[in-house]
Amino acid sequence: MLEDKNQNQNKTSLAQLGEFGLIDHITKNFKIQHKSTLKGIGDDAAVLDFQSKKAVLSTDLLIEGVHFDLSYMPLKHLGYKAVVVNLSDVCAMNATPTQITVSIAVSNRFPLEAIEELYAGIHKACEFYKVDLVGGDTTSSTTGLMISVTAVGEVEEDQLLYRSGAKDNDLLVLTGDIGAAYMGLQVLEREKQVFLVNPQNQPDLEMYSYIIERQLKPEARTDVKELLEKMDIKPTSMIDVSDGISSEIMHLCKASKVGCNLYEDKLPLDPQFINVCEEFNIDSTTIAINGGEDYELLFTIKMEDFDKIKGNPHFSIIGHMTPESEGMHLITRENTKIALKARGWNALEE
Ligand code: ADP
Ligand code: MG
Repeated sequence: MLEDKNQNQNKTSLAQLGEFGLIDHITKNFKIQHKSTLKGIGDDAAVLDFQSKKAVLSTDLLIEGVHFDLSYMPLKHLGYKAVVVNLSDVCAMNATPTQITVSIAVSNRFPLEAIEELYAGIHKACEFYKVDLVGGDTTSSTTGLMISVTAVGEVEEDQLLYRSGAKDNDLLVLTGDIGAAYMGLQVLEREKQVFLVNPQNQPDLEMYSYIIERQLKPEARTDVKELLEKMDIKPTSMIDVSDGISSEIMHLCKASKVGCNLYEDKLPLDPQFINVCEEFNIDSTTIAINGGEDYELLFTIKMEDFDKIKGNPHFSIIGHMTPESEGMHLITRENTKIALKARGWNALEE
């Protein structure tokens, strides 16, 4: 799992291929799947045609040492995750992702084989989520690796969901479970420290498999649009969970001009996540609402849709919206009201 810096023999240097050789090499296995892609890689720009639908577009930039650490993030996973985080943003608009572009800056520290690994992950994500790679840019960097993905999606105009549509009394709903990706990172950071002291040590991470997978191989909730359509539910607002729900709730409330009550006892937590929080002696609620990178969807629905969604295993009703003047609060298991903060919230404060 951890990078072995001594295995650089028998590797192909990027200089041997040159920029154009590299681009041809890494993009040759990608196939176009969408009618809306009129022109993909190979010209000065891609050409897309969404006919009567609207196009949504989202982009992210990931920097080595800031957003990822290659000592425990395999390059294949990094490629996959870089795509997924952008598809998640497209899903949060209630759109269907259709195309991506990928731009990379690499230093000569990386052999061709490393870039192949990165693109194997990107390829896997393109196949799994059925999106077309339609372009990008390739350049050199003096130090680390940078990767920027832009995702495009399509949606009928009346299906678009913004952060700004929530109303007082709407129910707050979350897909999946939260907090696991953050605790997965804590385990990986701890194993990295152990590895630095004793490189012979092969960690047994079996008991952490779910939370590590949530960190290294998150998925975008491309299934939610259809699930909600089948249930005949149209949310009033939506956002994806990249920074932790505390911060995302604040975005929804601010854009919609409402307040919110979030209920501690309604938070969907995986048992493995709860066990690891106990092992690390940290409060699971604090992590669940402030830990990021879960890439679940958080949305509001009208109160009258309660019967359509209650008991559905994909969704948890975790709170409700209030008038803006009431502010944003967590209602604890002991029924005390604590003001939500974007970051650094602590169960022991106040
Ligand atoms: P330009 O000089 O116009 O920037 P490039 O020579 O950089 O063109 O790119 C040639 C083609 O390859 C373009 O279609 C571009 O979108 C695509 N491309 C370049 N780099 C990448 C990459 N890292 N991943 C995917 N496509 C790429
Ligand atoms: Mg270029």
